[in-house]
Amino acid sequence: MNAELALGLDRRIGKRSAAVIEKHLGISTVGGLLNYFPRRYMNRGELTPISEVPLDEEVTLIARVLSNSTRSMRARRGTLTDVVITDDAGTGVPGTLKVSFFNGFRAKAELQPGRRALFSGKVTRYGGSLGLTNPEFQLLDEDPDIPGMDPEKLAAMPIPVYPATAKLTSWSIQKVIATLLETADLAALPDPLPDNIAAREKFLPVADAYRLIHVPQTHGDWQRARDRFRYQEALVLQSALARRRAQLAAEEATARRAAADGLLTAFDRQLPFTLTAGQTAVGKTLAEELGLDSPMNRLLQGEVGSGKTIVALRAMLQVVDAGGQAALLAPTEVLAAQHFDSIRRTLGPLSRDGLLGGLGPDSVQVTLLTGSMPTAARKQAMLDAASGTAGIVIGTHALLSENVSFYDLGLIVVDEQHRFGVEQRDVLRSKASKPPHLLVMTATPIPRTVAMTVFGDLETSVLDELPAGRTPISTHVVGLAEHPAWATRIWSRSREEIDAGHQVYVVCPKIGTDDDGDFSPGEAEPTDADLAETGARELASVTGVVEQLRDEPALAGVGVAPLHGRQDPALKSDTMASFTANRIQLLVSTTVIEVGVDVHNATLMVILDADRFGISQLHQLRGRVGRGGLPGTCLLVTSLEPGHPSRRRLDAVAATTDGFELSQEDLKLRREGDILGASQSGGRSTLKLLRVLEHEDVIARARQDAQAIVGADPGLGRHAGLAAAIDDYLNPEKEAFLERG
Ligand code: ADP
Ligand code: MG
Repeated sequence: MNAELALGLDRRIGKRSAAVIEKHLGISTVGGLLNYFPRRYMNRGELTPISEVPLDEEVTLIARVLSNSTRSMRARRGTLTDVVITDDAGTGVPGTLKVSFFNGFRAKAELQPGRRALFSGKVTRYGGSLGLTNPEFQLLDEDPDIPGMDPEKLAAMPIPVYPATAKLTSWSIQKVIATLLETADLAALPDPLPDNIAAREKFLPVADAYRLIHVPQTHGDWQRARDRFRYQEALVLQSALARRRAQLAAEEATARRAAADGLLTAFDRQLPFTLTAGQTAVGKTLAEELGLDSPMNRLLQGEVGSGKTIVALRAMLQVVDAGGQAALLAPTEVLAAQHFDSIRRTLGPLSRDGLLGGLGPDSVQVTLLTGSMPTAARKQAMLDAASGTAGIVIGTHALLSENVSFYDLGLIVVDEQHRFGVEQRDVLRSKASKPPHLLVMTATPIPRTVAMTVFGDLETSVLDELPAGRTPISTHVVGLAEHPAWATRIWSRSREEIDAGHQVYVVCPKIGTDDDGDFSPGEAEPTDADLAETGARELASVTGVVEQLRDEPALAGVGVAPLHGRQDPALKSDTMASFTANRIQLLVSTTVIEVGVDVHNATLMVILDADRFGISQLHQLRGRVGRGGLPGTCLLVTSLEPGHPSRRRLDAVAATTDGFELSQEDLKLRREGDILGASQSGGRSTLKLLRVLEHEDVIARARQDAQAIVGADPGLGRHAGLAAAIDDYLNPEKEAFLERG
C-alpha cells in the first residue's frame, strides 16, 4: 500500500484526534479517513424537512429555533431546557421538533429564537410528537472554520454530512478531515487511474478530488469529485474481476470431450420431449467448453421452469462419459433430495444404484450426500465419491466439508446461485486436482450490471423461453383489508382445486405462533419500521395455520401437513415424499419450498402475509405451481391497506410474469447492501459510490477499460496504482493488519 495512505492517523492529526476517530469510526490510517466520504450534502441555506427525517437513526439536520424555555426539574436537581425547532421556511405546513436538554446551559444561551443550527442525534417519537434529547448542535450562522468568508459564497457552500455516530457528530468528523487535508501529503497519493483514462474522462487529479469531496465550495465541486471516485471504484472492481477471469482462464483443466456413443447419446434418445432452442444452444456451448483444457466458468440464467436441470444433467453426462465425475450442489436438503429423485427418474435405466449396478459404461451411479444422512449411509456416499464409483454426486454444502473428496471431479454444478458466494465456489474448485469446470445456475434473473459486478468472474448464458405447453401462472392480490370475507374464500378455492385432483401450497412467513421475529431466512427480513407498523398483528405461521385448517369446514377430509426448516430432516423428506405422492393434498410451509421443488400436480399457491416477502422471493415461490402443463394460480394474501408501499411489491408481482422486469423492480425497492451482501460478493467490501442499477454506463465503461488494461498488462506491472487499489479492495482488513504489525 502507498506509504501515505497506510500512515497512522496520529502522525497527521495528532494522537488525541486519532484516538477518537479510531474509537468511533474504527479507522486508523490516513487512507481510511480520506476515503470516509460524506453520505450526502446539505444546503446551508435550506432547512431540513422534519417530516422526512427518519426515526431512531443518527441524523444531522438543519432547523430554526422557534422557542426556548428552561425550568427546574421536579424529581431531581438540575434544569430542563426545552427548545422547539422548526423547518418552517414560510411554505407549506411547518414541522416542529421538541428538543430537550438536561442542564443544557449552552443550549439555553445559544439556541435563541430565530437562530439556525445543525442538530445531530436520534429523533424519537413520544406519543404523538417528535423529539430529540440532548442532541449535539452547532450554530450555523457563525461558522468558526471559515472566518471572514464572503457571506454569499458561504450561503452557497454545501454542508457535507458524514455517517455519524451517537458520540461523534458529522461536523466533528468534518473538522478532523479538514485538518487531515492540510497535513497529509496529498501530492504523494497514487492515482489508480491510468493517465489516458483520467484525460479522456476529464477527471480531477486525485488530490483535488479528495479536497473537493470533503470541502466543496459548490455543489458542482463534490459532484465532479464524486464522479471520479465512482469511476475509480468501478474500474478497481472490474479490474479485479478481469484479472480473476484471466487467471481462471489461464489455469489448466482436464478436457472432457463428448463421447461418440455414450450415456449422453443414450439419454438424448430416451428424452420424452424435444429440447427448446435455448436448451440446445446452451447445451452446445457447454459441450464445447467442457471439451477445452481451460476451465469453463459459466453462469446459466433461466426463468423458473425453463429447464435448467436437463441442461446441467446433459453436461454432467458428457463429463461422466469422458471418465470424470460431476457434483451438483443444491442450497437446501429438500432440494438436494428432490434433485436426487428427479435426476434418477429422468435417467431411468441409465441410472444405477450402488447395490444393483453392473459396472458397465452404460449406466452411471447417482449418489446423494447430505449432512443429515445417517452416518453409515453418509460414509458409504463419501467412499463412493472418493473411489469414483459415484459418477454424479448430489448434495448440499456438506459437499464442501473437508473430509469429502472425489476421485476425479470434472464438473461442478451449483444450483440456485444466490445462496452461494465466490468463496464457496473456490472451496469447491479446490476439491479437484486440476480446476474443474464450473456451471452456476440461477433462476433469479440478473440485470446486466449486477451480473457484471457480482458474477463478474463468470461468462453468462440465458435460457429465455419456457418449454412449449406451459401456461403462465395467474397471480392475484387478495386484500383482506378491503374484503375480509376472502379470508375463508381462500380455503374453499383450495378445496375446488383439491376436488379436481390437484394440490395446494400454503406459504407462511413464520414457523411458530409464539416465536415472534423468527422469520424464515431469505431476503424478506422485515425492517424495524415494518415491524413497528405491523405491531400487534400476528403473522401467519406454519403451526398456527395447520391448526386453524384442521377446523376449517371447507377442508374437511383433506390431508394437511406442515413443512419447515426446524423439522427433523427425515420428517421433512417424508413429508415431501407424501406430498409428491398426493397422500398430502395441502402443504403448509415456510419458504423451504422456495427453490426448485417440483411437484407437477400442484396448481394453487396461497402465500399468506405475502407483503412480508421480497419480489424475487414471491416470483420464485409461485414458480412452484403450474409446472406440469396444468395452469397454475398464485394468491398473494395481505392485510395491508391498498396503497400501502409494501403492497406495491405485490402489485408488481401480480402484474407480470417477466422475471427480468421484476428483478429490476426489486432492485429499485431494495437497498444496495442487500444486492451485494457478503454472501454474494464473497465477503468483499460493499460498494461505496456505485449503484449497480443507476450507474450501468459507468460500470460498462469501466469493464471495457479493465478488460483492455488486464489484456495488455496481465500482471498490472505497468499499473502499480491500480494494482495496489485492487489489493486494498480485496483485503479490506489489511489496513488493520498493517497497523498492528
Ligand atoms: P428449472 O429451470 O426451474 O430448474 P427444471 O429443469 O426443473 O426447471 O424443469 C422444469 C420442468 O420442465 C421439469 O419437469 C422438466 O422435466 C421439464 N422440461 C425441461 N425441459 C423441457 C422441454 N424441453 N420440454 C418439456 N418439458 C421440459
Ligand atoms: Mg431448478
